[in-house]
Amino acid sequence: MKVGIIRCQQTEDICPGTTDFKMAAAGLQAFEETGPVEVIGFVSCGGCPGKRAVARAKIMIERGVDAIVFASCISKGNPIGFACPHFAQMRDAIRNRVGSEAIIIDWTH
Ligand code: SF4
Repeated sequence: MKVGIIRCQQTEDICPGTTDFKMAAAGLQAFEETGPVEVIGFVSCGGCPGKRAVARAKIMIERGVDAIVFASCISKGNPIGFACPHFAQMRDAIRNRVGSEAIIIDWTH
């Protein structure tokens, strides 16, 4: 399975996403159900309030991802304990746009 990960732009300067790549490759944590996955896209939401996330999800689907994955910096607030206040809206907007073209996974680790 190929996945595209969307991360929080607010945390990208303090986190290189190392654990996301490790968990995806090993099929652990959020990837226990899918098994090991190949990350073929790793983008940010584009900055608050995340309006670019929908377009970026569409591009990753065009490039062949089977799943759009929200990094845990968005849904769980890792590593600073500050989850995205726009997460639910961003996820719903992407779900409405991509429909059945890709599954959505809410977290990474
Ligand atoms: S919209 Fe959410 S995920 Fe995007 S930069 Fe702002 S806090 Fe981070």
